[in-house]
Amino acid sequence: MNILLVGSGGREHALAWKIAQSPLLKRLVAAPGNPGFASLCETRPVRVTDVDGLVTLAQEIAADLVVVGPESSLEVGLADRLAALGIPCFGPTAAAAQLETSKAFTKDFCARHSLPTAAYGVFETADDAGRFLDAQTAPYVIKADGLAAGKGVVIAQTREEADAAIADMLGGRFGTAGARVVVEEFMHGEEASFFALCDGETAIPFGFAQDHKRAYDGDQGPNTGGMGTYSPAPVLTPELARRAFDECVLPAVKGMAAEGNPYRGVLYAGLMLTETGPRLVEFNARFGDPECQVLMLRLADDIVPYLLAAATGTLSSKPAPKWRDESAICVVYAAEGYPDAPVSGAEIRGAEADFGAEAVVFHAGTSRDVDGALRASGGRVLNVCALGATLHEARDIAYAALGAIDFPGGFYRNDIGWRAL
Ligand code: ATP
Repeated sequence: MNILLVGSGGREHALAWKIAQSPLLKRLVAAPGNPGFASLCETRPVRVTDVDGLVTLAQEIAADLVVVGPESSLEVGLADRLAALGIPCFGPTAAAAQLETSKAFTKDFCARHSLPTAAYGVFETADDAGRFLDAQTAPYVIKADGLAAGKGVVIAQTREEADAAIADMLGGRFGTAGARVVVEEFMHGEEASFFALCDGETAIPFGFAQDHKRAYDGDQGPNTGGMGTYSPAPVLTPELARRAFDECVLPAVKGMAAEGNPYRGVLYAGLMLTETGPRLVEFNARFGDPECQVLMLRLADDIVPYLLAAATGTLSSKPAPKWRDESAICVVYAAEGYPDAPVSGAEIRGAEADFGAEAVVFHAGTSRDVDGALRASGGRVLNVCALGATLHEARDIAYAALGAIDFPGGFYRNDIGWRAL
């Protein structure tokens, strides 16, 4: 098979690493990829939002399957264009991706299909939002409706903070993404990420993980795109995982199909494990980054037949995927100043050494000089991952590799996995 993989982050490097192991693969091309892809596949400098360029590339390589990593490609309709040409695409249409790209759409959808989630209201004026807040108690959850790169959510401890956040969002801080605000009931519990593959009609569970959103040890500091992950997450017991699938994921896929908006690709349910069971915090229309990295390490089966079955509506013929018994961990090595003002350009040495069979370093934000030097070129720069018989063992392998990489100014959290350890 010829496969086009869209994306350039650690998530896509991990997908490329796993896809490249498939005996079904004839040719893998990534657009645009990053320096870490070089040993795995060809890369082409086409941006993830350049729909015309990506479609042309898919045709040029006679792609049997296009695998879309980031939500930004989905939002601009890459899957729609590929569908019109009959090219199987792993990733939802722009309309179906609204499960991620519009919080208001998703909250209304959850209400229509009785998915367990926080009570909410959607508002276009501060006065209306204020009246809703009058009936709530602190902490208050305020969200910009659209995509805001993980920064559009404020958990306000006081009413003043909540009012200020609403004024800020409606005032245009996130552009059109903040033209409407969603105000939610605060849910108490531990969070977990649950993944399912969907083919438009049905879904199968595809692993789960827990991540660490805050920048610094002890869950301190600003929110980030994610500083590390581990899988399995013991907090998501088999019973809770079954409930998450039956109560949140399957009704969502069935509901989308019933509304004439079938969902294909991976559905990522961000869950709050509350006293009454799993409740939905959010859906994402793509793999989590860096959750994908630990899932790829643990997946024992060939991923390609699963991606293709999701893209072509034939998932019901697939058995449940097999997972390795080992634990996997991913620690993000971030650039100085991340997340507010990451410093680019530091030269990284030792990242491409052989750290043993159980360790793998995925590139997220790196670039390569003509002389071969590897440099930081993003906020989250490297994803240092490992498998171990236990999470302790995986952690020790990953941190040994981190200690051997020279990345001036770079930092990582020392406590990834603490909840499970
Ligand atoms: P990201 O892009 O980083 O996944 P997002 O901008 O899509 O985030 P959400 O996932 O909806 O936003 O919220 C971000 C975080 O805020 C959640 O991971 C959770 O910790 C917290 N949060 C959101 N909604 C609630 C809620 N109703 N109750 C409690 N905590 C919440």
